Amino acid sequence: MSADVSPEVPMTGRPQPDGQAADTSTVPALTVTDVSKSYRGRDRTRVLAVDDVSFTIASGAAVSLVGASGSGKSTLARLITGSERPTSGSITFGGVTVSRLRAGGQRRLHRQVQMVFQDPYGALNPLHTVEYTLMRPGENYLGLTASQARDRVRDLLETVGLSPARQFAPKLPHQLSGGQRQRVVIARALACDPGLLVADEPVSMLDVSLRAGVLSLLADLRRDRGLSLLYITHDLLSARAITDEVLVLHHGRVVERGPTRQVLRQPQDSYTIQLLEAVPNPFVRPGNHVIR
Ligand code: ADP
Ligand code: MG
Repeated sequence: MSADVSPEVPMTGRPQPDGQAADTSTVPALTVTDVSKSYRGRDRTRVLAVDDVSFTIASGAAVSLVGASGSGKSTLARLITGSERPTSGSITFGGVTVSRLRAGGQRRLHRQVQMVFQDPYGALNPLHTVEYTLMRPGENYLGLTASQARDRVRDLLETVGLSPARQFAPKLPHQLSGGQRQRVVIARALACDPGLLVADEPVSMLDVSLRAGVLSLLADLRRDRGLSLLYITHDLLSARAITDEVLVLHHGRVVERGPTRQVLRQPQDSYTIQLLEAVPNPFVRPGNHVIR
């Protein structure tokens, strides 16, 4: 089945200085077509990590990829960001085939498609200040001078809710809480002005009390900056807060897809029902009777 990111997804674009509606035609969209990825396992058997997956993310849209551990989510993320190539199938971003890029193309893709990883501590160099970490993408990808990049760090920190910026800029990662570190990682992802953010379990290592804040930040960024978002999670319920469409992945295959609220209220696939039964769900009673 080919992708069906819903037409009712609001098409948001980059905010225009004069407050006029943003032009979304320039924001690239992702297309994943019949993508499979296999690895050779330890005992030389083949592991099919991603099995014939197709979907699209429209410009400015947000899609959740949900599945248990080992279902192929991170593999798909690596294929989309171009750090690995699919065994078969193709991935295009803004019309460019990601799976065939050479070095220069990889670099342009890297600017356009940014990752937010699960572990915010591992993602940051412990020896670099927040300011240094956030200046680099501006200098490397946008050609900013050091002073321009430094000014931009202030804006980035305020954007991700680390305010006042001057308080956070000189800090090292260990001087920040987990939630603050993940906000720095998100700011770094934004620093080169990407079109697509791939967030791979961005809150699963955070204290429960911090999760909602980071998720709503991602939702706000997507809305305010016209970003496309692929939100990867094992927690189907968290998809509700952040995306309009959901894909459920099981053993590398998409077993269910649809508008998030619909999948939560009336899951069709037995695996989706299983995923929902693992967490308290305000919409579905045990036995899958929908509460209206
Ligand atoms: P998830 O992110 O959903 O937990 P992964 O994409 O990490 O799932 O893994 C999917 C499957 O592919 C698992 O069975 C995993 O063991 C296997 N796998 C992932 N990466 C590799 C690799 N580099 N070599 C061999 N097997 C891998
Ligand atoms: Mg993973």
